[in-house]
Amino acid sequence: MKSQDIRSKFLSFFEEKKHSIVPSAPMVLKDDPTLMFVNSGMAPFKEYFLGNADPKNKRITDSQKCLRVSGKHNDLEEVGYDTYHHTLFEMLGNWSFGDYFKKEAIAWAWELLVDVYGVDKDILYVTIFEGSQEDGIGMDTEAYDIWKEFIAEDRILKGNKKDNFWEMGEQGPCGPCSEIHVDIRSAEEKAKVNGKDLVNMDHPQVVEIWNLVFMQYNRKANGALETLPNKHIDTGMGFERLCMVLQGVQSNYDTDVFTPIIREIEAITSKVYGKDEKTDIAIRVISDHVRAVAFSIADGQLPSNTGAGYVIRRILRRAVRYGFTFLDKKEPFIYRLVDVLSKKMGDAFPEMKAQKQLVENVIKEEEQSFLRTLDQGLILLNRIVEETKGDIVSGAKAFELYDTYGFPIDLTALILSEKGLKLDEKGFTEELEKQKKRSRAASEMSTDDWTILNDDANEEFVGYDTLEANVKLTRYRKV
Ligand code: ATP
Ligand code: MG
Ligand code: MG
Ligand code: MG
Repeated sequence: MKSQDIRSKFLSFFEEKKHSIVPSAPMVLKDDPTLMFVNSGMAPFKEYFLGNADPKNKRITDSQKCLRVSGKHNDLEEVGYDTYHHTLFEMLGNWSFGDYFKKEAIAWAWELLVDVYGVDKDILYVTIFEGSQEDGIGMDTEAYDIWKEFIAEDRILKGNKKDNFWEMGEQGPCGPCSEIHVDIRSAEEKAKVNGKDLVNMDHPQVVEIWNLVFMQYNRKANGALETLPNKHIDTGMGFERLCMVLQGVQSNYDTDVFTPIIREIEAITSKVYGKDEKTDIAIRVISDHVRAVAFSIADGQLPSNTGAGYVIRRILRRAVRYGFTFLDKKEPFIYRLVDVLSKKMGDAFPEMKAQKQLVENVIKEEEQSFLRTLDQGLILLNRIVEETKGDIVSGAKAFELYDTYGFPIDLTALILSEKGLKLDEKGFTEELEKQKKRSRAASEMSTDDWTILNDDANEEFVGYDTLEANVKLTRYRKV
């Protein structure tokens, strides 16, 4: 089944169950200052759950564009390295605002997966909430009893508060959830880890696909739970992961959501996907990031030096860096992928077709300006190398390159290692710490590229520069 059909089947299934199909909200909600980007399907419906607004229909279904690159959900570091976390992904969902509850939500999820999509039930297992002593609530026996009508009891696993209890925030609607996972490992893979606990298995082919949240409590200011008079259903299924299961492949990147983009990258760069790990990571990063950046621009969030725009700029630059370093692309090329993306997703998300020209222009310009920075940085780095005596390059010099000229530290480390030199990482981190202190002290927002934003200006994003610099230093050694 093609991805377009998988998406429309989901929506029509719930339409038949009396849900209204609504379009995806933009990824940046102008009227919600608590959230930088929409990171789950429920975000646009928050006011319904809080009882501040009434939906026309108590049942809604949609495919919501989500971005998980900041705040509570930040998957950026996984992207490219694993095969099932994206920055931008579609979350398919069905909602009940004070209407149906667990019985229908579970029965319909099962019906859709097994009877409609034809998923083999032997690859499915589910989780339910085990209960919480501190909150004075027991195991979700209600969900357990419904599930056992459909699935063998040894495939119903109990999960803790972290995985199986959803809360909107410190206060407000919350409740247990039940997740559906798939195990698409080959027989050989299964034999290797025979009998190991499925819940704690960290395996790329044992993944969560659908989360069914049962909002039945309200968390009060004093931390106590009270039962909600109107109970709600909020479900979210990862579209790209569902496509992986239904198309019988083992990675989201092997579904037709991504293959057209990957083929285009191959054509442009003359690299081949699937032969070399470093190249593959770069191709996955770029094919993922172009979606996030393109849809942000189409939704009106342009790259900039502050707030959400800065996050988008960073994502694009991350893609440029991978292309520059691993695919030898020294001139703009990511903007050329927008055409394929628009053909692939423009029917379901018309904003991409409508804004295609703008999206291409903005990405191309961003690429050009960052590549210029990289070029200048390379010249300066070569000078530093020439001046270096011995085989260790000063952390302070590398920091200057990073801080003043916007040259990414991971690239410095990589280039140095290729020249048989080492970076004084400790010295670099010390300079970074000093700079962080300075930036905290400064009240005004920095507008330089690649410097750290101060806490007040952008709380949830502080430290990301540091983190990425550190993480990437180790990562580059690995790949
Ligand atoms: P995971 O444990 O795999 O990180 P999650 O528990 O954080 O997923 P939820 O918040 O429950 O995810 O979101 C609902 C569904 O959205 C998940 O079951 C999954 O299918 C999908 N999903 C979540 N994060 C991503 C992502 N970064 N990329 C693609 N799909 C995702
Ligand atoms: Mg997650
Ligand atoms: Mg999870
Ligand atoms: Mg989950």
